[in-house]
Amino acid sequence: MIHHFTVGDLSCAVISDGQPRPPWEPPLAEFFTPATGVPERELSAAAAGRTTLTCGYNCVAVATGAGTAVIDAGLGRGFTGYGPALAPLYGRLADGLAEAGLAAWETAAVVFTHLHEDHTRGALAAFPTASGFAHAAEVAYWKEATSLPDVRRRPALDAIAAFGDRLREVEYGEEILPHVHTVDAAGHTPGHTAILLRSRGERLLCVGDSFYDPLQLAHPAWRTPWDHDAERSVRSRRRLLAWAADENVPVHAYHLPFPGLGRVERWGDAFAWRPGL
Ligand SMILES: [Zn+2]
Repeated sequence: MIHHFTVGDLSCAVISDGQPRPPWEPPLAEFFTPATGVPERELSAAAAGRTTLTCGYNCVAVATGAGTAVIDAGLGRGFTGYGPALAPLYGRLADGLAEAGLAAWETAAVVFTHLHEDHTRGALAAFPTASGFAHAAEVAYWKEATSLPDVRRRPALDAIAAFGDRLREVEYGEEILPHVHTVDAAGHTPGHTAILLRSRGERLLCVGDSFYDPLQLAHPAWRTPWDHDAERSVRSRRRLLAWAADENVPVHAYHLPFPGLGRVERWGDAFAWRPGL
């Protein structure tokens, strides 16, 4: 699945690495649990009969003027971590790039919002000459987290090793490529980074894993088991959503249903998701 669009002068495309359909959609109750501050009754009331989450893997390709940059790279081919039945559902990014006329081997840059495997694994072998970009705190965290089990660190370490000298460690508030800016979205991981595309007065805010489901706009305090620092993730989510709503900045959300593009509106003390740009 490919969705072409523009941000000012920038040609962009959302390219899906995969999006499981029923019966393979993950249960909402795995994302929002009593341990992450969401009592079962509150979840079922808010979800209004829905029990699963349509989890997209929406990579963004953008022609930057310094070559094509890909923002997050999906799970890649041959990923069996969610069970063998789901493996064929992922790993479409490279084919999608080719279909869009953007050969993976010509890709100039891969920009990681963070180093979880569903964002990095697709980049391990596909982009042999591309530069990688990840926040310095993200790289440092995974390198230094020796107390974590190897299975949790391995995907990040593999990505760091795969890019080697081609990996650039960045900070928040940098223009890392022409028209591509980093924005503080820390909390989900220590260096979780939103990416702001800006050209000719138009913008797109790619929020990475700042939320997984529109339920987290209506309930910004809802966390998931994958949020490293729960309170910081909530603060970042509220700040990014308030910015997007108040300045009407179009948003790209990696895990929302393809293509994951929409607008944010204020809704009482919380927010609402309006799909489409
Ligand atoms: Zn993710």
